Amino acid sequence: MDRMTELVELLNDYAYRYYTLDEPIVSDKEYDALYDELVALEKEIGKVLPNSPTHRVGGELLKQFDSYTHKQRLYSLAKSQSFGELESWWTRCQNSLNTQDILCSVEYKYDGLTVNLSYNNGELVRATTRGNGVTGEIVTSGAKTIRTIPLTIPFKGEIEVQGECIMRLSELEKYNATHDVPLKNARNAAAGALRNLDPKVTAERHLDFMAYSVGYSDIIFNSQKEMVDFLAQNKFRIGDFVKYSDNIAGIQDLINEIEGQKSSLDYLIDGAVVKINEQNYRNELGFTEKSPRWAIAYKYEAEEVTTILKDVVWQVSRTGKLNPLAVLEPVELCGATISRATLNNLDDIAKKGIKIGSRVFIRRSNDVIPEILGVAEDNDGKQILPPDKCPYCGGDVEVNGAFVYCTNKENCGAVHMSRLDHFASKEAMNVEGLSEKTILQLYNLGFIKDIDDIYDLTAEQLAQAEGFKDKKISNILAAIESSKNVSLASFIYSLGIANIGKKSAKQLADKFKNIQNLQSASVEDLLSLDDFGEIMALGVYNYFQNENNIKLIENLLKKGVKIEFEEQKEGVLTGFNICLTGSISIPRSKAKQLILDNGGSVSDSVSKNVNIVVYGEDAGSKLEKAKKLGIELWTEKQFFEKINFEG
Ligand code: NAD
Repeated sequence: MDRMTELVELLNDYAYRYYTLDEPIVSDKEYDALYDELVALEKEIGKVLPNSPTHRVGGELLKQFDSYTHKQRLYSLAKSQSFGELESWWTRCQNSLNTQDILCSVEYKYDGLTVNLSYNNGELVRATTRGNGVTGEIVTSGAKTIRTIPLTIPFKGEIEVQGECIMRLSELEKYNATHDVPLKNARNAAAGALRNLDPKVTAERHLDFMAYSVGYSDIIFNSQKEMVDFLAQNKFRIGDFVKYSDNIAGIQDLINEIEGQKSSLDYLIDGAVVKINEQNYRNELGFTEKSPRWAIAYKYEAEEVTTILKDVVWQVSRTGKLNPLAVLEPVELCGATISRATLNNLDDIAKKGIKIGSRVFIRRSNDVIPEILGVAEDNDGKQILPPDKCPYCGGDVEVNGAFVYCTNKENCGAVHMSRLDHFASKEAMNVEGLSEKTILQLYNLGFIKDIDDIYDLTAEQLAQAEGFKDKKISNILAAIESSKNVSLASFIYSLGIANIGKKSAKQLADKFKNIQNLQSASVEDLLSLDDFGEIMALGVYNYFQNENNIKLIENLLKKGVKIEFEEQKEGVLTGFNICLTGSISIPRSKAKQLILDNGGSVSDSVSKNVNIVVYGEDAGSKLEKAKKLGIELWTEKQFFEKINFEG
């Protein structure tokens, strides 16, 4: 009972900060874990405290707003976090309805703020928050600034339309780039914007509204389909994903499809919502105190958690910049233990108010190192200051605006090593087996100092490095040799020119076609490339004017580096990025060449950037991942048919 009381108090405090103040101090993952613990305790003890959040929707209303009693109650959603839980719900519905024949919609679960819009005689008369489900706060003037909320609709009866107010991630980024106090996350940003008495604040954040349901209405809808059609006809933006399935496997496929799209969307979704289509079935199943029995949310693994920032280390990059990296109290996130996170620069640290000892929100975005969004609660931790000396070479540092640099760039070992490491990396020269650790050893032994020294390494020298036996030595030497044949795009990327990533290196290769043309390109030539602004163009231009860089390229060519440029071919696969997996009947190299000859590009791993996965026998994890991401799958036969290849 003590724990139950404690949990109720804690959760109510968290809910107050989340729903009422729009300033959460714990992540949803942490909140949900405590909530689940409370549900389990209530079940075990068979008692529910009167103020338990398990029996209430939302939080307290803010007194500043006038309140409104919804014509029809607004609910929360029951949640499932595994396909097992989802299947139990499905079976329960089938049993209660006494039928196998149930059609369901599957939609994005937008992570924003629920809004209830009341229309009468074709005019928007009121916008309210969900509040506690029965009564909401009136936020009409803010809502009117949202362009996707129609002020007038063709339908002339009385109706309440429900949907989610969201802030796009691109808008959040733009906002944070131009404001002193950054917004921590798009959900709270949207909620805070709408629940603000000044409509100018709402307007400034460019919110969007996704309509997904009709509450009270003069007309009767027989199904979700009819409802969605009605919303679209009445000028609402309906969700970007509304698909249907009448079987559990199909529903699960749609949920996987959404998960595959999740990280490339310009807004946050935290799951999928499955709803029974037929209104008759909905009426039969009804509601619990908190949620409809005819719908369920499937929640994906949370991508945000909080943890303590224990320290900051400064990493030296290949340009001599010292980048702050947060050392975190290890925490589980998306199946991995996270102990490091990016801190962008001094300005960013100051704007977010991050200190050593702060509890911080971290978010995993795609596969990159997690990012710190902001502090969970103000604290009096230690201020983060730039180091006095370069932590690697002890050279002086210079603080220029928000950035910190090692002034001993030409001699700083860390700068050299990170340049070498980048040069040898997979997407650059692809010297397989030449790890950062090996580079460090060879550097410390004095065998490699400049990048091109890699091509002078001998078996005798390598034998002096720790753990290098005959086989490893011959493997590395062979890898060094084969790295000499390189595409122009990879070569440009390997040089580590500031701001030139893989995409811009490819653009440069496609435009200039050989390294000599690129070396003699003018700033104007460079500016003519898409997305090349002055900083990028000048960076490239200056790189190729620098004596040391000219010498480096000359040496690399002298030492046998052959730079190839292959014009992108046009064909049936143009625009397709294809990954091969499993065993296929022709050599892998031949299959790759066929893709290139037909205008496609090849990817060695499965990611959201891949459009098609061609799979052969015994395909394993890549095929599984492709299915999860909803990527189109071709058998070898389909691939051959597509390119008209007869084997
Ligand atoms: P919920 O947000 O998990 O699900 C219900 C809501 O989903 C609906 O109200 C609706 O607004 C929304 N939704 C989005 N897309 C939808 C669609 N297509 N169809 C129908 N509805 C859709 O439930 P809730 O009760 O609003 O909030 C509970 C959750 O809020 C918790 O699980 C937790 O993750 C979070 N929370 C966090 C804290 C915190 O401190 N971090 C505190 C309280 C609650």
